This record gives sequence, structure tokens and C-alpha cells, in this order.
Amino acid sequence: MVVISDRLKGTTTSKTTEARQRARALRDQGVDVINMAAGELVAPLSSEIAAAAHGALKENCHLYTETAGLRKLRELIVARVAYLRAFAYEPEELIVTGGAKAALFLSMVALLNSDDEVILPSPYWSTFAAQARLVGARVREVRLNPPAYELTSALIGEAITPRTKMIIMNSPANPTGRIWPEPSVLEVVRLAQKHNLWIVWDASYADLLFDRRNPSTLVGTPAGARERLIIVGSFSKSHGIAGWRLGYAAAPAEIIRAMTAVQSHASSNANSFAQHTMIEVLSGSEKIVDRTCAELQRRRDAIWPRLETLSILNPIRPDGGLYVYCDVNPRDYCAARFITSCSIDAVATDLLENAGVAVTPGSAFAQSNGLRISLSIPEPQLLEGLTRFERLLNT
Ligand code: PLP
Repeated sequence: MVVISDRLKGTTTSKTTEARQRARALRDQGVDVINMAAGELVAPLSSEIAAAAHGALKENCHLYTETAGLRKLRELIVARVAYLRAFAYEPEELIVTGGAKAALFLSMVALLNSDDEVILPSPYWSTFAAQARLVGARVREVRLNPPAYELTSALIGEAITPRTKMIIMNSPANPTGRIWPEPSVLEVVRLAQKHNLWIVWDASYADLLFDRRNPSTLVGTPAGARERLIIVGSFSKSHGIAGWRLGYAAAPAEIIRAMTAVQSHASSNANSFAQHTMIEVLSGSEKIVDRTCAELQRRRDAIWPRLETLSILNPIRPDGGLYVYCDVNPRDYCAARFITSCSIDAVATDLLENAGVAVTPGSAFAQSNGLRISLSIPEPQLLEGLTRFERLLNT
């Protein structure tokens, strides 16, 4: 019998990944599925990135790189990524990783001891909690209140205990698409400073902003806050290269050194051709991010009236990111569909099996309500998905 380690008990595959893979598997079997569960842009690789990748591959860039990432790439990231410019990082304060996921995991390995507590504003992307638990830490969930899901320092303050070590924040947030208001963020940062807590700030969606919103909600935080701040970023969503696995973390040099030591044993370095390609892409005048943002905003606006018409959905208008989170109450849905064994997972399964529409259930974000719709597929498919949803509810 295989005996899994105690550390892994209770850890299951990421629910967001599961939802995406279920949809793909059905499609591979020939089922006509509208995949609104994807956490990545479903679009061809941009021609600029494809050209840079061809160039990089011709350069024979197939060897290990520096563990923390190619220096030129680190220089470009600290110089070009808006979030990091606001805090003026040096290349020694940055590590390039196999996606933001790896950066988050390395931060937790570097900082958390057994039984340390990590505060997570909820709804949250379940990987945050799974990673914290994997390194032996405990999760303290702070439930934000619908419909605004507003972050407040009072809610965070109530969750702080002598064991608290870290607060994880994600803005724009997955799944709600909320950008945390600057005054609340400032208060949380002050609170963290007072209690000597680390803030891990996941900015994976910070480039994907709607309505000309300002991403840099951390600008204006006290200078000292930088000493206990880890900013995590990703090229997966902004540049549509999720499968290449490229992300980064910026933090004080001592933490970056610790994360680099872990990376040297865990994976050596981030994908080499992706690093070389991004040097080329970030050196040019790339318009990729602007195009992506404009397209996502257009899709949000195109489906918004339809989302609002479906009374069961209760959509939350996103400030940015890749998703629209809908506050679906499973009881209402199950009553309409005569489903007896009711849960938000049952709702997602019903939609998949009977309407051919894949969405991510709120359980992937520690919620018993809610469905996340991804804006990552073209508008006609999004509209078709909503038509199927309506039709199913009207049958
Ligand atoms: N952080 C958040 C909040 C996410 O939602 C995701 C992906 O869904 C990631 C990080 C993962 O990003 P990456 O592909 O760079 O690992």
C-alpha cells in the first residue's frame, strides 16, 4: 500500500485546474463544451512573442540559466514592470520562477514555520491555502462580505493572533476581480507593520485592468513596509504564455537569496527559452498587454447586460483580471432545476453535463456559493455559453 506523507494529507489537485481539465477531457471525447473555466487566455500565441521565441531557440538557449533567472531579464523586469518600478527594486531583489505559483510556494517555504498562521481574505484562490498547509502552516480565513467583498483592516485585525506570520493579498483578486481600495490597503499595511507580519502581494493580474484603473494600490505605503513585502507577478495572463511557466517575486535580498537556495534544489531555474524570449519581448515596445486588456474589457462589457438579466447570477463587476464572479446561491439554482442533492459543485456539474458549459464552482475559492466565469474565450463563445445557461434554466 502506498502511504502518502502526513504533510500531503488533505491536499487534493487544485479545483481550478480540475474544472479546466474536466472541460478539456469532455471536449477531447467530442462533447461540445463551452469552456468558461479556463484560467488562461485561449488565443493563439501573439506574433511578437512567437517571433522572439523563434529567435531565442535559434540562439541555442537550451542550458541551465542562473538560478535566480537571467540577469538581463531581472534587470528588465525591475525596470519595466509598473508595480516593481513603484518600489524601486534591484535585480538582486528579484527571482524569476516557474510561474507565480512557484514564486508563492518558494516564499512560503522561505518564511513559514510549522503552525505559523497565514491570513487569507476570502474568497481566495485555493492554491494559497494549499501551499501554506503543505509547509505546515495554518490558514486563517477572513470572510469578506458580499456583494462588495470589500477588504477592511478591521476584518484583518480581528484575525491576527500571536502566531500570525503572513497576510496574502491578491489584487485584482481571483475570483472577484476587485482591486483593493488604497486606503484599506494602507491600513492593512500599517497593521502588518505593527505586528511584524509579512505581506505577500500577488499581482498576477495587475496588468489586466479595466476602465483605466490604477493598479499600484501599494503606492504610498510607508517606506518601511517594503522590508516585509513580497510582490509576486506572472507573465501567464498578461502575455498569454501560461504554459511556458514564467513568473517572479520581488522581495528584500535576504529573502530572495533564501528562495533562490530552495529553487536551486527544487527546479534549478525557470524555463530557459521562455526567459530568453521575455528578454526580447520586454526590450521592445510591446503592445501585447494593452491589447489583452482592451479585449478583456470589451468582453466584460459585451456580456454584462446578459449577466445582469439572469436573476440567479448576481454578477460582481470586475475592476480587472480574467474573470467575472457571480454570487449564485445554489439553493435558488437547485430549486429552479429540481436538484435534490444541492451544492455549488452540483450546480457546476449540472451546467457541464446538461448545458455543455464549464464554469468554476465557488468551492475552488473556499465558498459554498458562487460561480466563476472566465473571460478568456472569445465573445461569441461567451454569449453562446450564457444562452445555454438561460435555456437550461428555462427548460
Ligand atoms: N496567482 C493567482 C491569484 C492566480 O489566480 C493564478 C492562476 O490562476 C496564479 C497566481 C498562477 O499564475 P502562474 O501561471 O504564473 O503560476
